[in-house]
Amino acid sequence: MKVEIDSRSGFCFGVVNAIRHAENEMKENDTLYCLGDIVHNSEEVKRLEGLGLRTISHADLDNLSGAKVLIRAHGEPPSTYQKAKEKGIQLVDASCPVVLKLQERVKKGWETMLAKGGQVVIYGKKGHAEVNGLVGQTKGEAIVVEHIEDANSIDFSKPVVLFSQTTKDTEGYEQLAELIRKHMTQHFPANNLPLKVNNTICGQVSNRKRELVAFSQTHDVIIFVSGAKSSNGKMLYEVCLGANPNTYMVTNANDLKPEWFATAQTVGICGATSTPLWLMEKVKEETLNVKG
Ligand code: SF4
Repeated sequence: MKVEIDSRSGFCFGVVNAIRHAENEMKENDTLYCLGDIVHNSEEVKRLEGLGLRTISHADLDNLSGAKVLIRAHGEPPSTYQKAKEKGIQLVDASCPVVLKLQERVKKGWETMLAKGGQVVIYGKKGHAEVNGLVGQTKGEAIVVEHIEDANSIDFSKPVVLFSQTTKDTEGYEQLAELIRKHMTQHFPANNLPLKVNNTICGQVSNRKRELVAFSQTHDVIIFVSGAKSSNGKMLYEVCLGANPNTYMVTNANDLKPEWFATAQTVGICGATSTPLWLMEKVKEETLNVKG
């Protein structure tokens, strides 16, 4: 049985950048606090905790005066920067540059909507750190649409500027834009809708979908390695499953089951933008053992 790791799977540059920041800091300090999981992968979090990383929540900031706190790739709302200033906390800002750019665009979009009496709509997961950071740019006024069915919280008689969380699916985003367009035509001329759709899904995610479809179709069995908390992981797993029904999601090598490989000649191993290469390598090794 041939087992191949997808060479394009693994950390996106935003996650690589955040981990590099953390590792560099921990060379000089024994402890570095990180606001939320540095990456949605418990195996990688465990490895970094071994080096001195401590994961904290927003509530912990109240007790960390003078400490160093890392902001992970997802970014943070302005209120976090304000709190850090008040508490004398030194921030190590490892927000992904793509997310920072998106935050800026959301802020500008909100200012424009304020002047026009319109709304900022964000297609994203409610409560997700990146989405919280984006909503924070609008003083909490942005409308978050997680599923198309939630779109009824939008007032279609008012202008809309639409953004997507960087890791959401392109199809869902297009469907939402289309639905908004359709409803708005009841209030505005179809050729002059006050709707601006911003293309803000990260290329590291949207390109990966296409590549994963091709990879999944060239193997008998696909093992998709991802942390349970990764929204990007769930979405990319569905992409693989759609391209190859013999796709299984695992968080680590212990989840593998021998019966998955009973008739397989080739197995492909791939993962999310939060899956470390070392973990996929471990899964590869165990896949060969499980098969025997
Ligand atoms: S998926 Fe894209 S936007 Fe999100 S952290 Fe990675 S590189 Fe940055």
